[in-house]
Amino acid sequence: MTKITTLAGMEKDNAEFCKQALQTLNLPYAQNAGITVKVLRLDLLHPHISGNKWMKLQVWLERFKNGGYQGILTKGGPWSNHLHATSYTCYFQKIPLIAIVKGHEHYVSATLQDLKTWNTQLIFTNRSDYYCEEKWIELAKSLNYLYIPMGGDGEEGVLGVTEWFNQAKLPAFDSVFCAVGTGTTVLGIAASTLACTNLVGVDAGTGDKKLLEKLSEEHISIHGEKKVVLQHAPVKFGKISPDTIAFMQDWYFQHHFMLDALYTAPLCVHFKLLVENGQIPLGAKVLLLHTGGLQGNRSVSLLNP
Ligand SMILES: *Cc1c(COP(=O)(O)O)cnc(C)c1O
Repeated sequence: MTKITTLAGMEKDNAEFCKQALQTLNLPYAQNAGITVKVLRLDLLHPHISGNKWMKLQVWLERFKNGGYQGILTKGGPWSNHLHATSYTCYFQKIPLIAIVKGHEHYVSATLQDLKTWNTQLIFTNRSDYYCEEKWIELAKSLNYLYIPMGGDGEEGVLGVTEWFNQAKLPAFDSVFCAVGTGTTVLGIAASTLACTNLVGVDAGTGDKKLLEKLSEEHISIHGEKKVVLQHAPVKFGKISPDTIAFMQDWYFQHHFMLDALYTAPLCVHFKLLVENGQIPLGAKVLLLHTGGLQGNRSVSLLNP
């Protein structure tokens, strides 16, 4: 894959980055159960560009460069990590960007405020129009813009994640845990050379039915050795409970880095439950993926007193 990475701090190769980003977690409940836990701090990739969203964008950006497009059109909610990542990337690479935003123009979140600062053109839309894929594909076509679906998903997204992990040269693990929204990231990892026996996708409660299809049997055997499992975190997407907040604050106190409220906090809550219920074998080497998304925490009023 040709490197098109030109963002400050991101042109380092992935293996080099992972040497710093792969950290040992001091989790007494895991240590007591004889389990070694590491975290891959993808949140350290870039301050504005959420870890996995960056990976998912790579192949899309290649398509943009090779396709003779005038700009990019994509969509997301008012706190979308994907919009945030795409907006900053386009700003940095001087690519015109139109963002279709699910919501009302009177509600300008901190995320959307950033998008405005980075010269992204916002188009606000109601729910039904937002989900009308044809409409946005047509609009993109009429402008000669590349259409990137919500979240940077699709085959391009999967491939971007695979290529990133192929270059990461991580050690082998028994189990790797990755938060799941659409499943693009976990499918990309499944197809990568990352060595692990179990790849556990932890559904953050989005209730995305397409996801279940994507993670069905045919995808489970993608790369021979890996068994891909979908599990459910004890949360409902977007409903951030006081327990989750307390868990996040405690986590920060113990480990000195934040989790995001929607994906990585539920992931770590789920993992803790598995350990406490004796569902992780003694001696297991575990990797938890911190997929980033910290900018979205600005939506959580309890974390921002
Ligand atoms: C978007 C996102 C995910 C989910 O990624 P999918 O590829 O949609 O499964 C996980 N973690 C964070 C922090 C995210 O922003």
